[in-house]
Amino acid sequence: MANNNNARDDTPQCEKCLPAFCCNYFAFGIDEPENRKDYESLLWKLAHEKVSIYVYRNQWYIMIHTRCNFLTPDNKCGIYEDRPYLCKEHSVENCEYTGDDYGFSDHFKSYDDLLEHIKENTNFRFKLDPTGVRPNCV
Ligand code: SF4
Ligand code: SF4
Repeated sequence: MANNNNARDDTPQCEKCLPAFCCNYFAFGIDEPENRKDYESLLWKLAHEKVSIYVYRNQWYIMIHTRCNFLTPDNKCGIYEDRPYLCKEHSVENCEYTGDDYGFSDHFKSYDDLLEHIKENTNFRFKLDPTGVRPNCV
């Protein structure tokens, strides 16, 4: 995310963005799955609520969909002046509100999403049929 002078909350765009998409998750990089066990581990993670997995510029990430406790009911940052550098550097010009599915090449929002990907793109097979469990995020 690019550094800029147009930080979150400084523009009307953030006021329209409900409920502040960028304040409702965090994500971190994970190893690209290489074998059956790796995929099984990721499937297990997706069996949990409020978890998704995405690929951005060939790097795999796990995303936890959880609201920041500093986000106020009126969609503002409650610690704006002292917010972490991650938030200060977050650009409103190319953010989750303006981006098209964040620019991810893949976004697995459910157990079934990844199961389908495994079936179509690998030789690994799992006995379980699609579960029909709803996606963990929209
Ligand atoms: S996702 Fe973009 S528009 Fe929404 S609160 Fe964050 S910086 Fe503002
Ligand atoms: S610290 Fe403020 S800007 Fe950062 S995620 Fe929390 S509410 Fe959003």
